[in-house]
Amino acid sequence: MKRTITHLADGRELIYFDRRDDADRSAIDRRPLEPRPVASELRYDPLTEEWVAIAGHRQTRTFLPTGGTAECPLCPSTDARSTEIPSYDYDVVVFENRFPSFSGNFGTYGDVGGLSEVRPAVGRCEVVCFTSDHSSSFSKLSDAQVELVMEAWADRTAELSAIEGVEQVFCFENRGEEIGITIAHPHGQIYAYPYVTPRTKLQLGAASRYTGNLFADVLAAERAAGTRVVAANELWTAFVPAAARWPYEVHVYPHRQVPDLAALTEEERAAFAPLYTSVLRAFDGLFGMTMPYISAWHQAPVRQDRELAYLHLELFSIRRAPNKLKFLAGSESAMGAFVNDVLPEEAARMLRSQVDH
Ligand SMILES: [Zn+2]
Repeated sequence: MKRTITHLADGRELIYFDRRDDADRSAIDRRPLEPRPVASELRYDPLTEEWVAIAGHRQTRTFLPTGGTAECPLCPSTDARSTEIPSYDYDVVVFENRFPSFSGNFGTYGDVGGLSEVRPAVGRCEVVCFTSDHSSSFSKLSDAQVELVMEAWADRTAELSAIEGVEQVFCFENRGEEIGITIAHPHGQIYAYPYVTPRTKLQLGAASRYTGNLFADVLAAERAAGTRVVAANELWTAFVPAAARWPYEVHVYPHRQVPDLAALTEEERAAFAPLYTSVLRAFDGLFGMTMPYISAWHQAPVRQDRELAYLHLELFSIRRAPNKLKFLAGSESAMGAFVNDVLPEEAARMLRSQVDH
């Protein structure tokens, strides 16, 4: 694997991850780009004890067209058109988001009144292009390509964790127009937050109050019960959680407890690739149509509870039937109280029947 760091015209970092050591990454970004916007601000909600990133500048960001490769900003550049990626080809590429919610480029913030504390949204947001093939998807990637993406995730997790003020690194993919994705090109994002996220705090709080190892016990119990297991191999298990919130939700755990992606072995990465893509294909097979989904890596915070945390992936879709989407309405949005119309055991059975078909 070869890793090459370059910079875009406005100073943002771009990193190529190549399988071949002789890949030429000397292409230069010649676009006239506006200077980068200042970072968002963070405001503290004293009622929920949560930080909210207020990103005013994101409202003015350029609309990114849904069109094909002719307008895609994530396809490689050509003689006729310059994109975010200066090279004419790439394997996997990561670059800083042009309109980040978190960045190192912050101004000064004053008192906004009220009981809310305000501070700059320190951190970083990156885009990960999983492949240069515009019409592909994560589910269609070869095992070798998934392993390269995992190397990129591991590299970014380690690098971003080292940034001063960063408390948690989140690698994720939003897929599908129903989720709000405007660029069809297969890509994900990485957020480096200046705080530990609410859901991670909840999970680690539960794990610290539990007698024993909560994550390992959940995994062992699901493997023993078997009714909700969707796919498994020697090193990983994918299962529908007993109390799934979403119509189709799958959690993927490595059998060995590690804090983050950077701690996985080569064997564990290699074993993850075919298992995960088979689960993604099962998602698409459910209704014979592209499944919108959110795929979220839960990693340990950078500075606390590293021994308590257990790396795992939570994948879920809002589609509950071919023409029905699950919307977060009153109970979920206002109260955080989920109602799921699909029995988790039935969801697991349906997904299992699609694996490797
Ligand atoms: Zn594209």
